[in-house]
Amino acid sequence: MMTAMPPFDNSAAIGFGLNPLDRQSDRREDEAYVAARRADPAARFLVLAGDVPLLQRRGEGFEALFDAAAAASLGAERQSLFLGLDEGGAPLFALGLDRPADEALAGRSDVEAVDLRSVALRGLVPAGLLGGLGGAKAMLDWHNRHGFCANCGARSLVSAAGWRRECPACSAQHFPRVDPVVIMLAIEGERCLMGRQTRFPPGMYSALAGFLEPGETAEDAVRREIHEEAGVRCTKVRYFASQPWPFPSSLMIGCFAQAASAEIVIDQKELEDARWFSRDEVAAMLAGRHPSALVAPQPVAIAHHLLKAFLEKGAAVLEP
Ligand SMILES: [Zn+2]
Repeated sequence: MMTAMPPFDNSAAIGFGLNPLDRQSDRREDEAYVAARRADPAARFLVLAGDVPLLQRRGEGFEALFDAAAAASLGAERQSLFLGLDEGGAPLFALGLDRPADEALAGRSDVEAVDLRSVALRGLVPAGLLGGLGGAKAMLDWHNRHGFCANCGARSLVSAAGWRRECPACSAQHFPRVDPVVIMLAIEGERCLMGRQTRFPPGMYSALAGFLEPGETAEDAVRREIHEEAGVRCTKVRYFASQPWPFPSSLMIGCFAQAASAEIVIDQKELEDARWFSRDEVAAMLAGRHPSALVAPQPVAIAHHLLKAFLEKGAAVLEP
């Protein structure tokens, strides 16, 4: 029996996709404006050491937003980024510390370093902050790894309130990268294809996924990855929804694909197993009551929402 669920609306954000900030991208070049926002007593700061968010303890919970004094108490910044204005108009910045978390937090019990996956899975920050925190992690990580011009090798400088790097030697401009990844369910009749990698937790199966290559459409990447990993040929591809995935800077592009064949030939380098799942089996996995204790990804991941849509609609997910 199928569980009744509301229809999925792909204008609704998933996990790291929920970011209600006014990004103010047209104001980033205005240094006086950005400096004034930073000096505003209402300004708040997301603070990361390396790629690890720092959270203030608040009773049983956590607070990710630091005021200027609390942020400064953690030490000097290596990088700052103007994220935009929150729904109340308060400026929000991300700060990357110039030292690792264990040094910044030495002797302190009021602040804790929690990796971003755990922040998301444990729901440690309000859902509306997760997108900002994920974006901050992706951007600060980009700065940490792109200190030198890829064109000439000179040390590059930060501009546009943290959203660009410029080379003083050759004038090249460098923009933060987003790496598109297709993630998809092949559909055959009323079954969907999932696989598992050896690194997955025991019993977990998920949608197949792979990086898009230059010169390739998302649709072709979906068909290529399914064929490479599972030997299944697909025809029609339908877009479902997308989700930023800041590990380190991917954009997951969720799709469904019409399978033209059912036989599976696993690429052992990529997958430990792959097989077809019925809607009943998917329902049991999402509900945590699969007879063989197989499990599906958590709601923070777009794979979970692909499965929910398939559970709700079956093969009709391939229709407009
Ligand atoms: Zn250069």
